[in-house]
Parts: sequence; C-alpha cells; structure tokens
Amino acid sequence: MQSLMNAQQIEPAAAETARAGRRVIIRTLALKKQYVRKNVVTEALRGVDSEIYTGEFISVMGPSGSGKSTYFNMIGGLDSPSSGRVFIDEVDVAQLTAVEIAFLRCRKIGYIFQTYNLIQYQTALENVTTPMAFAGVEPDEARRRGMDLLEIVGLKDRWHHRPIEMSGGQQQRVAIARAMANQPSILLCDEPTANLDLHTGREILEILRELNSKRGVTIICATHDHRMLDICDRLMWIRDGRIERVARRDEVHIEVGAIGGVTA
Ligand code: ADP
Ligand code: MG
Repeated sequence: MQSLMNAQQIEPAAAETARAGRRVIIRTLALKKQYVRKNVVTEALRGVDSEIYTGEFISVMGPSGSGKSTYFNMIGGLDSPSSGRVFIDEVDVAQLTAVEIAFLRCRKIGYIFQTYNLIQYQTALENVTTPMAFAGVEPDEARRRGMDLLEIVGLKDRWHHRPIEMSGGQQQRVAIARAMANQPSILLCDEPTANLDLHTGREILEILRELNSKRGVTIICATHDHRMLDICDRLMWIRDGRIERVARRDEVHIEVGAIGGVTA
C-alpha cells in the first residue's frame, strides 16, 4: 500500500503498473553520491528517487558522465551512497550485513558490463559456472545449468571456447548467461551494446527481452543508443545526477533505425 501511494505521487505511469499487480523491486530515496578525488568533489548523483517494478524492462538514458553507472553501482551494492537509501524488495540495503550483501550480489542481481568482463583463461562454460560454484552448486548440476544457459543465448556448441576465440557479441552472450547463473530476479545491464554494431546489439537486447518476458527477470538497461529503445517498457532519463524524466514507451515516439529518433 505504501508503495502504491508513493507511486501515485511520483508518476502516473508507475502507479498504473502498481495497480496491475506488480510490486516495487527496487526503490531509491534521495540517493546521493559524491566522489572526492584530489580535493575535487564530483556530485555524481544529486538526489535520485526512483521505483522499478518486478518484471519490467526499463531503459536508462543519459549522456556520458550523467550518473548512470553510479546509479547502477548503488543499486547493485557494488558501492555505497553518500546519503539516501536503496531498497531491494523493500529491504534497506544499508541495514544488511556483509554476508547478506554478498548474497544479494551473488543470487539476486546479475550484472552485465559494456566490456563483457569475462575471465580470459576460462572457457565459456567455466565463465558461466564460476558464480554457481560461489553459490555452492555441485559441479555436475552447475555444468547442466551452464549448458542450458548457453543454449538460451545460442552458444551451446561453443561451450569450450575461450573469450579470445569469440566475437564481441558472442562474449556478451556468455556474459548474459553468466549473469543468469544463480537465477537472479534483477539484471543490471550497463551499456551492454555500446561496443557492438547495431545488428549485434539488437540481438543482445532481444535475448534480454526474452529473459524478461519468459522468465520475468526485471531488466534495467543503460543505453545511449536511441535505436534500441523500442524494446523497453519504460524509459528513464538521467542528466547531471538527477532523474530528468520517466515515461512509458508508448508515451514516447521512437523511430527504430533513426539516429536521435526519440521525441516526446
Ligand atoms: P555515466 O555512467 O552516465 O557515464 P558515471 O556514473 O560513470 O556516468 O559518472 C558520473 C560522474 O561521476 C562523472 O562526472 C564521472 O567522472 C564521476 N565518477 C564516476 N566514478 C568516479 C570515481 N570512481 N571517482 C571519481 N569520479 C567518478
Ligand atoms: Mg557509465
């Protein structure tokens, strides 16, 4: 009830989603982050209030340096805010112990980066099963689940390849399978298509969309490519450390294939 009330105050589109029976899975309140380096203070986030619902696919837009990665790192528990709060499933992340945060990172949230970040000396399958080992999955079960995930991303027959033997798009597919290793409910995707050509980038987003629609994974995806936006349910614009706007996709005109093709 609390979340529904907040949603109505913040944004009609979010309230509608709440009425459709979805819960808030991520909530941030007055989230701020400052970086201090050589006496220079950067205000990367200047008070971000946001709500993300279970099962939605939200695209986070914003120019380079606007605070997208910082926002993701706060949500993913990779770094802590200077002030403000992050709630995952309505639990305040700041109240968690180190063990609980490790659990959150290992089981609840999968992370996909622009640069894939695979382990170079491991095969595709080993990259996917390594997080399962951290979660205590038996090796045979891990292999079976790893192969299933590689099949979902279309790379089952390349399970033994190392990253250097794969294209960027294939590496990103492995990274998606790895992010799904422990069946997280949330995938944080930080510009996952930025290093890929348009066609390969779309294939990656379509895999993410499929995980979203078939498995109900909540997807939060930073992008600065307007041609990729037709795939999401909602869009969030971040500028200069603040949320500038949030809109449903059907409230925004998107021309696929056009550069700068988004108008309100
Ligand atoms: P985006 O992902 O939208 O490009 P970031 O969240 O990476 O933006 O960065 C937001 C701002 O914070 C930028 O001005 C960036 O230079 C600064 N910043 C990010 N990380 C650090 C850091 N570790 N130390 C100092 N400044 C940082
Ligand atoms: Mg970034």
